[in-house]
This record gives sequence, structure tokens and C-alpha cells, in this order.
Amino acid sequence: MSLPGWPKGGYRSAQHAGIPVGGPPGMPPNTGAGQSGVAVINAGSSSIKFSMFTVVDGALQLQARCLLEGLNTAPEFVARDAAGVELARQGWGPGVVLGHAGGLQHLLGFVQQQFPHLNLLGLGHRVVHGGQHFIAPIRLDTAVVQTLKTLAPLAPLHQPHNLAPIEMALASAPDLPQVACFDTAFHRGNPELAQMFALPYHLHEAGVRRYGFHGLSYEYIASVLPTLAPQAAAGKTVVLHLGNGASACAMQAGRGVASTMGFTALDGLPMGTRCGSIDAGVLLYLMDQRGMNARAIEAMLYHQSGLLGVSGLSSDMRVLLASDAPRAKVAVDLFVYRIQREIGSLAAALGGLDALVFTAGIGENSAEVRRRVAAGLGWLGVALDDAANQAGLPAIGRAGSRCPVWVIPTDEELMIARHTLAVLGIGTATPA
Ligand code: ADP
Repeated sequence: MSLPGWPKGGYRSAQHAGIPVGGPPGMPPNTGAGQSGVAVINAGSSSIKFSMFTVVDGALQLQARCLLEGLNTAPEFVARDAAGVELARQGWGPGVVLGHAGGLQHLLGFVQQQFPHLNLLGLGHRVVHGGQHFIAPIRLDTAVVQTLKTLAPLAPLHQPHNLAPIEMALASAPDLPQVACFDTAFHRGNPELAQMFALPYHLHEAGVRRYGFHGLSYEYIASVLPTLAPQAAAGKTVVLHLGNGASACAMQAGRGVASTMGFTALDGLPMGTRCGSIDAGVLLYLMDQRGMNARAIEAMLYHQSGLLGVSGLSSDMRVLLASDAPRAKVAVDLFVYRIQREIGSLAAALGGLDALVFTAGIGENSAEVRRRVAAGLGWLGVALDDAANQAGLPAIGRAGSRCPVWVIPTDEELMIARHTLAVLGIGTATPA
């Protein structure tokens, strides 16, 4: 598989990369010669998210955020600048199959056009599973990729797609530094007990354990808490990452202690189309009594459950909140109920709760879901300021309440860009 030319400025190894001086934040991208940047790729099963950052005065500056969806059905591409202004848009129509290779080609063509003189210092990738051994971001080569491939059975719906663009770039541009950042890494410091299932111990030793995911999101939140909310940063905090995928993480002084997600990204909270925690006996019943095989159960648990499965209507919280259908209400009720129960469990793991943080699509945007979750947490000292919650201000707790509540937009791509530069030995002014 060959890729189109990389940006005309080419790429340079980190050892040779001087950080160029750029304009102040807010200035349009300086695409003149000497501008250096780092690209971030988050490749899923049917979409690729791509972000381009420049390194200006030692700090990362977002220049473009791109989304290419429907890779194998009806591809749609949109790119926006840091202010959300649309830079480019393209649709291919139904029936067109771009695949990951075609998608990546399109994205790199866009970069070449938009940043013709950029020196690409490196490519950072979100990789969902680092297993037991990859506990920090790592420079990629073919040997590392081969090892990461052995983890595909632990994340069959994510890992192969994460690795596909890495292999393509390794083949086409072997000197371009690439870095893998793992969704599991943030949780590897969790206490051993928090990582265990009560299964025969040899399975734990063989890697059947609770890994936890959304780690890059939690790491980003932990990185901004000290400035935004010093009390939350220093104390016992539960962060709710509520997007299409949803999980919650207990942090003590910014370090992970427990997560609702487990061996796979199916565990814990109900999600857009995933079931969340389930009695393993249900799976045995489905196999024995309903004749379902592993693939059929996998499709059901990953794609036909959660908000979609319960409501029979949609996986999108906006649709459910706007609907009068009785089962749309049940789906939202169950989502809220499960979040409240998991917060109780995480607070128990922490031995208290000093702060609660909402993030990701639902957590950042839905005042209604935040209101309903918080309404059941008075016993933990949570009380919202209604006006602040409606406004989505960072601090939404009622003055004087025991447990402050925050809304903090997550930024997994920035976290990956920071890690990429750090692994390549390029310091930035931004905290990692
Ligand atoms: P992903 O896990 O795919 O990264 P996001 O974090 O982008 O997901 O979250 C996407 C979800 O956020 C959507 O499916 C939608 O349900 C929800 N969402 C976005 N905006 C709102 C809103 N204003 N109100 C309620 N839900 C919202």
C-alpha cells in the first residue's frame, strides 16, 4: 500500500527537529517554510479522526481537526480549524468504499494542500489496547506493531483498525516517527485488586484482567485539573466520560484507582449501543437456550444494546431526550441509574468523594443528564447550581455544597500530541 506524498516540507526525525518560532496563539496557521507540526490519528472501525497541531514557541497549537466517517458506506469528510470554522468538506455518496487506506490517503492529501510547507515531526496514534506491558506511550516500529497485533483478540473491534494506518505509514514512510498512545495505560497503576476478576488465578496471570479504557481522556482531565480545580486534582475525584462510549474513573490525586470498564470496552455503564455490565450467566443462557454463537452475541452486546437496544429508537442521547416514546425514557432512566450506582461504587473504592467531573459528548453538552445524575447524589454532597449547569460553566456545583462538580471538555488528541512530542524528545510548554 503506498501513500501519497507527505507534506512538501517533508518530515524530520526528532533529533534534527528544531522547534521553529511561530506567531502568537490565535494567529492563522503559518504554513511558511520551517513550520513544524505533529499529526494525530484516531482510527476506528468506520471512521478516522485526524488532528494537526503545529509547535509554536514550544507549545502545541491546534490547526485542524478532521473527521472522515462512513469509510465503507457513504464517506463524509469535514475539516475545521481550532475555532470550529469549516476548512473543507467532501461527501462521496452511498455505496462508495474508501476503506482505511483510501481514507488515510484523503486525509494526507488534505494536509498537503492545507499545510504545504509543514515539517511533520511525527504521527501520534490512539491505540486502544496496550495489554499488561505497554504502560506508557511508545515509539513504533515493526516489532512493536507485531506485539500489538497479538492484543487484537482483546479488542477485536478496535485494535486492528488502530494498527492499520500505523502499518501503512511504516511501509510508505519508514523514517517518519510514529508513537502509540494507549487507552489502557492510565489504568495500569490501579491497585492489583481493582484489576482482578474472581476467576481461576492463572487467567489473571495470562492477562484476563480489568484493563480500563478512555485513559487518554482521563489523563487529559487529570492534566488540567491542577489549574482549574486544585481541590479535585489533589483529592478523590470521579470523572464521568459520557460519550457514545461511556465509562467512569476514580482518581486519587490525579492517578487512576478504579475504572468501570474492564477486560474490554463493554463493561461498566450502558453506552450508545453497548450493554455495559452484564451477568455472565445471561451469555450462557443465550448460547444454551437461544442458540446464539459468539459472533451473534458480540454483535448484540456491542451494536444492538445500550441506549439503542433499550429504546429501540436511537443511540443518540439528543434523540432520546427529545422523544416522548416510553422506552426512550426508560433508556435514559437506566443510563442515569447505572451512572449513579457506579459513582457509589467508585466513591467506595476511593473512600470518599471530593469532586465530580463530567466530560465527553453527553457529559459536556447535556445539562439534563447532568441534572438527573446529580439529583441522586445528594448523599455524597453533590448539589448543582441550576443556572451554572444550564450554562455548562466549568464549575456547576451549588456554592457551599460538599462535593464540587465540574464540566471539563476532554481533548484526547491534544494528549496524544503531547505524548508524541515527549516520546520524540521534543519538549513543549504545555504540561503533559
Ligand atoms: P465518542 O464516544 O464517539 O467520541 P462523543 O464523546 O463525541 O462520542 O459523544 C457523542 C454523543 O454525545 C452523541 O451520541 C450524543 O448522544 C451525545 N451528545 C452530543 N451533544 C449532546 C447534547 N447537546 N445533548 C445530549 N447528548 C449529546
